[in-house]
Amino acid sequence: MKKVLFTIVFSMLSITNIVAQQKIPDTHLTSNVVAARRTEITLPKVNGYTCYKADFHTHTIFSDGDLTPRQRIREAWHDGLDILCLSDHLEYRRQEQGMLNALAPYNADGKPYTYYPANIDYVNSNRTMGVMCNFDAIYDEAKAFIEGEGLPLMLVKGIELSREPFKLGHFSALFVKDISSLYNRDIKQALRNVHAQGGLVIHNHPAYRRTTSDKSNEQAELYNEGLIDGVEIVNDMTFYPKMIRRAIEEDLIMIGASDIHRPTAETYGFRGHFRTMTFILAKECTEKAIREALEKRRTIAYSGDQLMGEEGLLSDFFNAAIECQVLRKDKSKHSLQLRLHNSSSITFRIAHNGAIYEVEPFKSVNLTYKGATPRFTIENMWHIDYQHPTIAVEIDK
Ligand SMILES: [Zn+2]
Ligand SMILES: [Zn+2]
Repeated sequence: MKKVLFTIVFSMLSITNIVAQQKIPDTHLTSNVVAARRTEITLPKVNGYTCYKADFHTHTIFSDGDLTPRQRIREAWHDGLDILCLSDHLEYRRQEQGMLNALAPYNADGKPYTYYPANIDYVNSNRTMGVMCNFDAIYDEAKAFIEGEGLPLMLVKGIELSREPFKLGHFSALFVKDISSLYNRDIKQALRNVHAQGGLVIHNHPAYRRTTSDKSNEQAELYNEGLIDGVEIVNDMTFYPKMIRRAIEEDLIMIGASDIHRPTAETYGFRGHFRTMTFILAKECTEKAIREALEKRRTIAYSGDQLMGEEGLLSDFFNAAIECQVLRKDKSKHSLQLRLHNSSSITFRIAHNGAIYEVEPFKSVNLTYKGATPRFTIENMWHIDYQHPTIAVEIDK
């Protein structure tokens, strides 16, 4: 018995000794998941074009957004975008008062810079701009960051021009060369400056702080002079149905944009769908090809799992994403057994015979179609005059 006890105590001492001798590392990773992850949004090839995902309307701390340009860039890549524009307000910066208050004691003369608040009336006031901000330098830094990180993301140079009262509104200037020289107190001249640089002008959130999305007299002057190239069909979660007719009749680019100020994880992540964006149907993701696609108006706006645009393009997009196979023909009942397979990341809500069939991403649905040639109304697609398109489905392609 003594011997047994001795053996047990001896073995315990040896174990303690081994543990004490074991090398304790200086650092220990609590998770080995360090790779950056991206949400891949799979979209079909439509009429030979790739659907690129763009958000042309975002804000950073250099106007009234909560994130830095670098954070916006990483976020855009995580969110599955191919194209991003940091379109800060040229005329006002919500964050600057706080920053200037903090920095004021360190100015050479001890005085803070003059600050003009965000609600300034740019039309009637004698004031011009708040603190000057070098947006060209911010763009260069952001572009260098993308290149340094090796992110496959096209950064479009742009800015938002804002005019109050709201009968004028807000406009994004895209593909501009020199932001610092765009500003003019007269909005018409500012937009002419955008065109002189080869840029495009998008009319943002057309009903913002107004009771209508119809043109005010002041806005009509801008349109009549040909200063507007595109219009936001949807901004964040607000869809402007009347803008589709305007875009078709006046040959304008249809845009969907997030106008994101907070982190997208906070705004869209918890709702369970992708951020608001524009799908651009282009040959390749180069500035030339994207500009060509925009000028030919090959865009579809996306928001809240809904798609908005021109009927023909929506129909082509649907038929490219959905493969329709006839499983069985029932001649006596004049019906077809169909299998619809969705090879995209977009859900389609198909109405037929009083029912809604949800065809989720990368899933199939079998249904009975009453009739000989399938046509479906797509409930989460919108075209002219607040209507859902009714699409003739290509079979066994
Ligand atoms: Zn705006
Ligand atoms: Zn904005």
